[in-house]
Amino acid sequence: MNPSVREELDILIRLQETETRASELRVTIQGVEQQQSRLEEVLDRERSALDEKSEALASLRKQYEGFEDDLRYNEDRLKKSEQTLRTVTNNRDYQVLLREMDDNRKANGRMQEAMVGLIDQISAMEAELADIQARVDAEALRVEEQKAELMASCSREVAALAELEKEHLNLGQKASLRLLKRFEKAVSLGGGVGVACVSSSICKGCFMTLPPQFCIELQRCNEIRHCPRCNRIVYWNGV
Ligand SMILES: [Zn+2]
Repeated sequence: MNPSVREELDILIRLQETETRASELRVTIQGVEQQQSRLEEVLDRERSALDEKSEALASLRKQYEGFEDDLRYNEDRLKKSEQTLRTVTNNRDYQVLLREMDDNRKANGRMQEAMVGLIDQISAMEAELADIQARVDAEALRVEEQKAELMASCSREVAALAELEKEHLNLGQKASLRLLKRFEKAVSLGGGVGVACVSSSICKGCFMTLPPQFCIELQRCNEIRHCPRCNRIVYWNGV
């Protein structure tokens, strides 16, 4: 047996152990994060609905302001027309001006009617918006609480993962770069498991029975070996 190979294998086995435990923890934490995202998505949808309503309200207010401007303009014109009317001597011009003033008054009446309708719509929408805003605020508070609860529910996992990552880093520092690269490649090819033990001549990574000569060499432990089938780094577990 080559002691440095044995040492390297020990590091690889421990690296794999931390990797496996860390992956399990990451799955749990990701599950919690996904639940948090779903909560956020619901809230975002409600906020978008709120924004749409606010835009609709702004557009109604703008429409109302437009009517106000037009109304002021028409009132000015009416005043001017009234002044002109006093100075008109020609009957035909007088009649034309009267008709124009009548049209202006009618237009003002129509605008005032529309404005009354708009005021009703604006008040209804303001009330609706206040309701939605209150609901969204309450929902946001609830989401924050739920997120905090979710985070608390996996705080142990988060702490354990941080410890494992530290341990993984320490182990990695003990290994050569070449060995680490070999390990990472095997982990990536092995779907997260890059190191497997061989027990009763069977690779526990892919469950293939390994050739007797391969097993003899594995027991000698003179070099790091890979399973010929699954390519995981394999070690003899003594059985
Ligand atoms: Zn295998």
